[in-house]
Amino acid sequence: MVVNKDSLIASQQNQIQQLLFLQTVTQAMGEADGFQVALQTFLEHVQKLTNWVSGESWMLKENVLVPGGAWYSSTPQAGAFHQHSISLTFSLNEGLPGRVWSSKQVEHLTDLTTTSVDHFFRLEAAMQAGFVEAVGFPFLADNQVLAVLVFLLDHHHPQNNLFIELVSTAVAHSGHILQQKLIKAALHEREALFAGIIAIVQEAIISINTSGNIIIYNTGAEKIFGYTAQEAIGQPLNLLIPNRFHFIHNQHITQFDSAVGRRMGESREVYGVRKNGEEFPAEAYILRLAIAGEKVFTVVLRDITERKRAEEALRYAQEELEQRVVGRTMELAKANEELVRSNKELDQFAYIVSHDLRAPLRALNNYSLFLKEDYGGVLDESGKEYLRGIADSAKYMDRLVIDLLEYSRIRRVQVEFGLVKSSELLERIINRLQLREQATIRIPTDAPEIWARDVHLEQIFTNLLSNAVKFCKPNVPPVVTVSWKDAGNDWLFEVQDNGIGIAAQYSEKIFGIFQRLHTQDEYEGTGIGLAIVKKVVEENNGRIWVDSIPGQGSTFSFTLPKKAAKNRI
Ligand code: ADP
Repeated sequence: MVVNKDSLIASQQNQIQQLLFLQTVTQAMGEADGFQVALQTFLEHVQKLTNWVSGESWMLKENVLVPGGAWYSSTPQAGAFHQHSISLTFSLNEGLPGRVWSSKQVEHLTDLTTTSVDHFFRLEAAMQAGFVEAVGFPFLADNQVLAVLVFLLDHHHPQNNLFIELVSTAVAHSGHILQQKLIKAALHEREALFAGIIAIVQEAIISINTSGNIIIYNTGAEKIFGYTAQEAIGQPLNLLIPNRFHFIHNQHITQFDSAVGRRMGESREVYGVRKNGEEFPAEAYILRLAIAGEKVFTVVLRDITERKRAEEALRYAQEELEQRVVGRTMELAKANEELVRSNKELDQFAYIVSHDLRAPLRALNNYSLFLKEDYGGVLDESGKEYLRGIADSAKYMDRLVIDLLEYSRIRRVQVEFGLVKSSELLERIINRLQLREQATIRIPTDAPEIWARDVHLEQIFTNLLSNAVKFCKPNVPPVVTVSWKDAGNDWLFEVQDNGIGIAAQYSEKIFGIFQRLHTQDEYEGTGIGLAIVKKVVEENNGRIWVDSIPGQGSTFSFTLPKKAAKNRI
């Protein structure tokens, strides 16, 4: 085979040219600052090497191709064509940029004058600019297209094919450089975002390396600790920790490292020290990251001085309140004790007084009898009347004293609890007082058995029933009804009559000692019955009240707890 010397020389020159171009373009791109600048560098190198009048870049944005920032145009016509192009977009697979993007192949339109507009959308503008050829190159990395370059040529030239080959090789070799630029740009964006977040948070974010020196110190930390980042970075973390806590704080970090301590992200309360020496409580999270094989501990710390102060104030207020409650309870207990004591004394006094009073009363009564028997003959009618008055008064007073005695006995005398069959008790009382002879009495047959003091219940019903019959209206036969209800924790009893009733303003007063609304002539009595009833009911932790319509009748209601309280006396 005969080798043509000239063609051999030409091909060697080509190869050297190719290598040189490759070296310079890749080096320049590598040095370029960012993706766009690298693309622009590439285009400019092609511009220098070839006689191609226009170069442009296309990039993918939201699924369409848009003009990339990098371009050149060597003639005014090419400039006009560029102006026309920058407002356009191409769908994938459409037009020269779209097809190159999808096919990932170089495409050369060798004669635009015979190309249809469907194949090259910008044909009209290209014709006006005097372009005759167009060629598109895909910039690939890991089989992904990063950008498409389109060049336009304004005259056919035998060297064009050689240039196309050269540029193809350069494009194929520099795809990874562009990819690096993209990755770097993304990293920069992330870093900027991260730095932005770190800068705006209120918390102190402090990272230390394995030697315990501060490597990250944000604005939050500057505000909390008072040191500037410049002052803090490179210093040991101990700078920010009170001396006495150095050991324990360092232990936290060691514990974290050995994963014995708390789980990551769990907070704990620590103490920090500001530049001015002031100590403050803080809440801190410790995070551990391994970056390039080196562990980095990050402390996220919040100043909780205010929160602590508020908690302290709250605790103080609570303690004070508790103390006041304790004090008040003690006062009340004392007052209660005092009351019980004085009540007992009063009962004792009433007992002694009434007991001692009865003897002279009996004497008074007896002497009035002697007077009547021995001197009745010498007394005229009014004298006898006075004598009767003395005897009646003495008797009445004796009854008052007896009642008073009974009243004072309620608390003084201890009575045992027992199961009381209330229906049977009612029947017994009615028979004893012979109430059925004076009135219509209705009592329930199913009234409950209750845990109570027999005597007390008898006192209550005796008084209420006899009053119900006693305070009847003239000429109206009395009707008395006893009923009961289960009221949850209590039994509720009601004694209802159709008697004279009680005006609302007296509904409290009638429960007082010796409080009566009538004279002896109208309705006899001493006015102590209801006082006894009230005292007995309350002694058993119950309540008593009256509902009444004057002229129509009254209903006396009282409750007794189902679970009888312990005998308090
Ligand atoms: P006494 O029955 O000895 O008068 P109480 O203490 O039992 O004393 O009653 C006090 C007063 O309450 C009575 O004087 C009467 O005015 C009024 N009272 C009591 N029960 C009734 C009743 N069922 N109907 C109308 N008034 C009543």
